[in-house]
Amino acid sequence: MRMIGLIGGMSWESSAEYYRIINEGVRDQRGPTASAPCLLWSFDFSEIEALQHKGDWDGLTAKMVDAAQRLEAGGAKVLLICTNTMHRMAPAVQAAVSIPLLHIADPTAERIKAAGFSKVGLLGTAFTMEHDFYKGRLINKYGLDVIVPNDEDRATVHRIIYEELVAGRIEEASRMAYQAVIARLVEAGAEAIILGCTEIMLLVRPEDSPVPIFDTTALHAEAAIEYALTA
Ligand code: GLU
Repeated sequence: MRMIGLIGGMSWESSAEYYRIINEGVRDQRGPTASAPCLLWSFDFSEIEALQHKGDWDGLTAKMVDAAQRLEAGGAKVLLICTNTMHRMAPAVQAAVSIPLLHIADPTAERIKAAGFSKVGLLGTAFTMEHDFYKGRLINKYGLDVIVPNDEDRATVHRIIYEELVAGRIEEASRMAYQAVIARLVEAGAEAIILGCTEIMLLVRPEDSPVPIFDTTALHAEAAIEYALTA
C-alpha cells in the first residue's frame, strides 16, 4: 500500500472522519486487521482561521507548502488537503512537491457527472462559495453549473461552520437552518448538493435534503483509498 499524507487539523473534527473512513475502507478491501499507512500533519486551526479571516493567503500558502514537503520527506506517496477552503492554494502545494495532490473537487465532480447531474448547489465556507478557486474548477474542468446560496444564507452557512462545526458542536437549530438553505437551492434548480466543507457531513444527513448530497469528505477519502491500494 502506498503511504497517504494528510494535511489536516482544519479542523481536527473532519480529519478524524478522514482517518476513520480511510481505515475502514482499507479494512473492507484488505481484511479485518488491515489499516492504511498514513502520515497526518495536523495544524492548530485557531492559527489557520485567524490568517484566513485576516486574508493572509500568502502566509497560509507557506504553511501548506511546508506541511506538504514534510509529509513527502516522511515517505508519503500521495497528498490530501483535508479541507475544501485550503484548496485555494492547491496549485502552489502541487508545485512544491513531486508526489500527486488529490484535489478534493475532482472525485466530487466525477461522481456528480456519473450520476447524470449538471446543476449543483454548493455549500461551504464563504471563501469556497464566493471565490473562484473551487467553483471555477467545477465549472471549467467539469462543465457543471454551480449555484450558491443568497447573501444571508451564505453568512449563516459560514457562521455555523466556524462557530459550531469546527468546535464539534452539532445543533438541531443549525441542521434546520441548513435544511432551509438546501430547500432554497433546490427551488433555484439545484439537482444535487455539494457538502463543500469537510465538517458539514457532521451536521447534514442525506434525509435533510430532497435531492442527493455529495459529501466531499467521504469522496476525497475514498479517492485516497483507491490511490493507496493501486500500487
Ligand atoms: N474544513 C472546512 C472546509 O472544508 C473549513 C475549515 C477551513 O477553513 O479549512 O472548507
